[in-house]
Amino acid sequence: MKVGCAVVAAGKGTRAGLGYNKALYSLGGRSVLRRTLDALAGSGLIHQIALVMNPDDEAVFREECARLGEPALLKAIVPGGATRRESAYHGLKALDADTDIALIHDAARPFVNMQIIQNVINDAAQYGSGVISCPVTDTIKRIDERGEAVQTVDRAVLRSVQTPQAFAYSRILRAHEEWPGDDAATDDAYLYEKRWGSVHLSSAPGAEKNKKLTTGEDMRMASMHFAPRLRIGTGYDVHRLVEGRRLILCGVDIPHDKGLLGHSDADVALHALMDAMLGAAALGDIGKLFPDSDEQYRGISSIELLKRVSAALSEKGYRLNNCDITIVCQRPKLAPHIVRMRQNIADALKVDMEQISVKATTTEHLGFEGEMLGISAQAVALLETVGE
Ligand code: MG
Repeated sequence: MKVGCAVVAAGKGTRAGLGYNKALYSLGGRSVLRRTLDALAGSGLIHQIALVMNPDDEAVFREECARLGEPALLKAIVPGGATRRESAYHGLKALDADTDIALIHDAARPFVNMQIIQNVINDAAQYGSGVISCPVTDTIKRIDERGEAVQTVDRAVLRSVQTPQAFAYSRILRAHEEWPGDDAATDDAYLYEKRWGSVHLSSAPGAEKNKKLTTGEDMRMASMHFAPRLRIGTGYDVHRLVEGRRLILCGVDIPHDKGLLGHSDADVALHALMDAMLGAAALGDIGKLFPDSDEQYRGISSIELLKRVSAALSEKGYRLNNCDITIVCQRPKLAPHIVRMRQNIADALKVDMEQISVKATTTEHLGFEGEMLGISAQAVALLETVGE
């Protein structure tokens, strides 16, 4: 079964008051258009997309589309018509002739999810049409010519419909071809219903959030939804200084007459950092992830463990925003090694060195660090949620 989708973005977005097409509005670093197209492509259910745009926007739309997650799915970018209906028709005509199911979707609905897409496609395959819809939750009043409410409408028999709307391709194309020219049609379901009879309404979890972004307020609300969420964590660790061990701090092998004792390489600074990162994600601590009763971690490089922590976090949708480590060490002097330390961490986490801070301090010979019995480290890490 071949599935195509016409995405309509031919409007000017005047109601959003932006002065440019609202499809280009950035939501957490990605335009509304890209978020919508990426959601459609990411469903894995759509084989090609035809994008309908305002010809004035062509250059910038093409630039945006070059940055899509799966640019190959985009078959055509075509100019819109004088009305919403004509624009949808232009998009449908640009799909391959052997398309079985065609969806029409508004570019201004970036909250479309895979379940919605799946359900409208399944319904169109079974019934010829599948249009995503929601029960009406507000009370609806009929008004007279003065605007006075004169009747309460039974909302149990009402549904509000959105896009995507899916249809048997040949049928929706016929409905457009034979359309008499009355352009009161605000959606494709209206055309289908006039030409082929009743339209099958689909439902799906999340449909109530599949809002069309229309006003400036809609844009601000959507921005908040897509803004990265920040989480903070702290870490603290101590290791004993003994003879006959290497001193490794942030992956740097530092010449000294003593080294830190531990099951792994005892890199106290990285241990504090890993605990801060895991703490920010509420994923426990390194003792839980890499128990020192486990022989596979004997003598292991903490840089290697840091990479594993980073992988575990990215699997949960987090990445490091920045971190700050303080190493409390009376001797040796750490200043000459700080840049290497920062670089090691940045390389392991695949981030910029500017995101990593490492500092060292002494305790004026006070306490166990001052008496050179051990070294302690504290870290704070800020994580942000990735993308979605
Ligand atoms: Mg430790």
